[in-house]
Amino acid sequence: MPALPRLPVVRELIKIYGISAKSELGQNFIFDKNITDKIVSSAFISPTDVLVVEVGPGPGLLTRSILDAGARNVVAVEKDARFIPTLTQLTEASEDRLKILHGNMLKIPHTDILNAANISPPSLTSPSPQGNLGDIHIVGNLPFNVASPLLLQFLRMLSQRKGLFGVGARVRMTFMFQKEVGKTLTANIGTEHRGRFSVMAQSLCDVRTIYEVPSKVFFPVPKVDASVVQFVPRMDNTLDAAEYEMLENVLRYFFTKRRKTIGNILNRLAKRVPATGPLLPALLATGQAYHQAQRPENLTNEQYGEIARWIRKREIEIPLS
Ligand code: SAM
Repeated sequence: MPALPRLPVVRELIKIYGISAKSELGQNFIFDKNITDKIVSSAFISPTDVLVVEVGPGPGLLTRSILDAGARNVVAVEKDARFIPTLTQLTEASEDRLKILHGNMLKIPHTDILNAANISPPSLTSPSPQGNLGDIHIVGNLPFNVASPLLLQFLRMLSQRKGLFGVGARVRMTFMFQKEVGKTLTANIGTEHRGRFSVMAQSLCDVRTIYEVPSKVFFPVPKVDASVVQFVPRMDNTLDAAEYEMLENVLRYFFTKRRKTIGNILNRLAKRVPATGPLLPALLATGQAYHQAQRPENLTNEQYGEIARWIRKREIEIPLS
């Protein structure tokens, strides 16, 4: 893979184009290539990926590291038009390995990304088995307030096998989060940070922190440190799309009552929705460690999955809080 030619330093480019970080867009840039190289190597971005989608490339230093790692086919989606000229230069320098799309990753049709990447999946409507197409890697240092909604959207799409998740590729995701959010996403059962997000992400993916980033490497310096978290879809996931959607509701219901016990939460639910009355006895009958005196953070991902499956099978609607 040809190396990138010498390019102006990103910090200088920003000066030349007179671009300043917009705090309302959550823009905190990384100007240290050692850091972006480390993110890319910890994420295992490789020339064998059929596609790397970078979300929010900004001035493009992480993009350079991705290209330097030998990625063959990169599509970067950037919302802020001010960066398009510098990114377009990078497209030329990369001999077209990089394509730029100007848009909002939360809204852009994934077919636009696949078209830009020149990938024609077998069929976008009838998904083929995961892995046939190879590996797709979605990666991004995004504003903290965009990374979480984007992850939730992607988890749902993964459960539905839609968009990039429905083309028969194995799709890994690597995103930067506020350190505290990273702790929640990776939190084990019974720990302080365990929450709704932990179970949602871990039910569908193996989740781990691959790199810790101190706040001082960003410009401007944000108030908190960050961590890069990677999500690899679990091959042993048994939840279908409807069950995952129910899981989202179950988790919302349980974790808005995180100080209550499981017994209390299920008894309250049974009073509001009588059809859920047999749920607690059914769970206790599984012989697993369902202790009524435990709290929401003490249930495993699998136990929440069973609750969602039980409710979904009976087509019961549960309240959101
Ligand atoms: N990746 C660059 C870096 O590491 O220096 C920039 C990081 S900055 C925290 C986030 C970037 O994401 C900005 O360039 C911002 O304009 C872009 N962005 C914000 N929301 C976006 C969205 N919904 N879709 C695409 N890009 C977005």
